Amino acid sequence: MSSEAGMTTYPRQVLEQVARTREAVAQLHAELPRWGLVVWTAGNVSQRVLVDPASGPGVDDLFVIKPSGVTYDELTPESMVVCDLDGALVDGDRAPSSDTAAHAYVYRHMPTVGGVVHTHSTYATAWAARAEPIPCVLTMMADEFGGDVPVGPFALIGDDSIGRGIVETLRGSRSPAVLMRNHGPFTIGRDARAAVKAAVMVEEVARTVHVARQLGPTAPIAPADIDSLYARYQHVYGQAPTEDRS
Ligand SMILES: [Zn+2]
Repeated sequence: MSSEAGMTTYPRQVLEQVARTREAVAQLHAELPRWGLVVWTAGNVSQRVLVDPASGPGVDDLFVIKPSGVTYDELTPESMVVCDLDGALVDGDRAPSSDTAAHAYVYRHMPTVGGVVHTHSTYATAWAARAEPIPCVLTMMADEFGGDVPVGPFALIGDDSIGRGIVETLRGSRSPAVLMRNHGPFTIGRDARAAVKAAVMVEEVARTVHVARQLGPTAPIAPADIDSLYARYQHVYGQAPTEDRS
């Protein structure tokens, strides 16, 4: 059972929203094994705590993330941990995920990001091992990523270098996914659900483009057509209550 001792100074409204965010993040973790994106305890999902979603992300400087070293079957809302934007534990019985510093760095430097996901999904990670961007050769890539899926720098775990690499790469890109070199994909979204969707989609396009490559060279899409597909998809689907494409 989780102690709220670390949060006694927070107003009730914040505590209620923390509870809701724990619930949402715990449920979304189930999507990672469901889509075949993780093995053992690898991978993690986080989401900012939004007390007033209308005022946008970042109002409370807290986020909820997976605890370190817990299997997917054991994840519950209570086992999730709450951290501040420096990655320090605020509430929870376990140590936060070893990727917490990277998530915290992204939230500190990208105020509109409300969710972050990291996996070592096979095909996306294979492109990361090659340090090769996934070329935008599918209309679904233009829709979702607005271009190639970029590669971020090589970075060792343990300081801000992974977070810095994610932010530096994604700031100049329309893509919500970055392939961290020799490591794997990190994805972002306005909330954790959008970031999970990006993690599923990046694995799907990594696999499809890989298969296409086995058949021969792929055909590029003209940059103007990529722009047009991206604008239409983000406008038409981005405003809808559900962003699932038909
Ligand atoms: Zn990793």
